[in-house]
Amino acid sequence: MQALTKRVKAVHRKPMSFAEKLYLPAIFKGMMITLGHAFKKRPTVNYPEVKRPFSPVFRGMQILNRDAEGRENCTACGLCAVACPAEAITMEAAERQPGEEHLYREEKYAAKYEINMLRCIFCGLCEEACPKDAIYLSETFAPADYKRKQFVYNKSELLIPNPKEDPEAYKKALGNRAIPTTNSLDQQ
Ligand code: SF4
Ligand code: SF4
Repeated sequence: MQALTKRVKAVHRKPMSFAEKLYLPAIFKGMMITLGHAFKKRPTVNYPEVKRPFSPVFRGMQILNRDAEGRENCTACGLCAVACPAEAITMEAAERQPGEEHLYREEKYAAKYEINMLRCIFCGLCEEACPKDAIYLSETFAPADYKRKQFVYNKSELLIPNPKEDPEAYKKALGNRAIPTTNSLDQQ
């Protein structure tokens, strides 16, 4: 048969030696490789007891932020939803009523705020678009689940703990972010 290229090589199979037919040298070689790996440092960790440090640029689940007084920062302007390339954010705005100044920082707030984590690509554009420091991507994963609807996170699931009611949980949720002062937020 004529070869199409000049790269064709005829392969000659060598007959196996007696030792090769026993397979013992190959088994021994394999065992040596296994033993060599048994004493090396393990690359795996016992998650969730042990957690790897995140990269400084890691972007996880979104958090809806409050100010140092515990008021919700979000003013339901919709910029995050417009910036979101995955159309993962939906919200409904409401007017702040007299007597609710301790709950919401602005005259308008998000009565409903939802993020579909199955759509989210964790690009961080919602955080960049927000003029009120009201949303940021944290170092938390959205936990696994069997039902799709469990991945639509509502406002109560996204909202950071109130620093007035639970300062420890608030600090933990903030992570490496600086704790805002009332003045710095009111200047925005
Ligand atoms: S991280 Fe990106 S994809 Fe996810 S909600 Fe924000 S803008 Fe949308
Ligand atoms: S999170 Fe920020 S950008 Fe999104 S609606 Fe609230 S204030 Fe506007």
